[in-house]
Amino acid sequence: MAKSAVQKHIHKVKRLRFKSGNHMYFCTLPDCYFKVNPALFLGKKTICWRCGEEFIMNEYSLRLARPHCEKCHKTKSEDKEEIHIDDIVSPSAQDTNSTIPLSDKLTAILNKQAASNAVASEGDEDI
Ligand SMILES: [Zn+2]
Ligand SMILES: [Zn+2]
Repeated sequence: MAKSAVQKHIHKVKRLRFKSGNHMYFCTLPDCYFKVNPALFLGKKTICWRCGEEFIMNEYSLRLARPHCEKCHKTKSEDKEEIHIDDIVSPSAQDTNSTIPLSDKLTAILNKQAASNAVASEGDEDI
């Protein structure tokens, strides 16, 4: 009759705020009274509130009261940008229809990427 089974699980945590303004994660599973300071929970395994899969807490999920994994996290702006880029960096057959030179478009995209990624290495030369 092993009693240790209760402790062998991945905590599914919910963040609560104290009157003092401090935050704390509590495990919501039955018979578990695990609690932890959010700062100490970075890099630890937990259960996603959306898909129920385990994942590792990162700096983004630490900001959520009910953390979910990256797979369940979708940013609309990111999706948009990807479609946008695919659209423009396609074949040069459309050159004649376009009023804006392709090189200008590419430069704009590269600048955007550089701004968001903070990585500006290649691509600044004339195309
Ligand atoms: Zn737990
Ligand atoms: Zn998930």
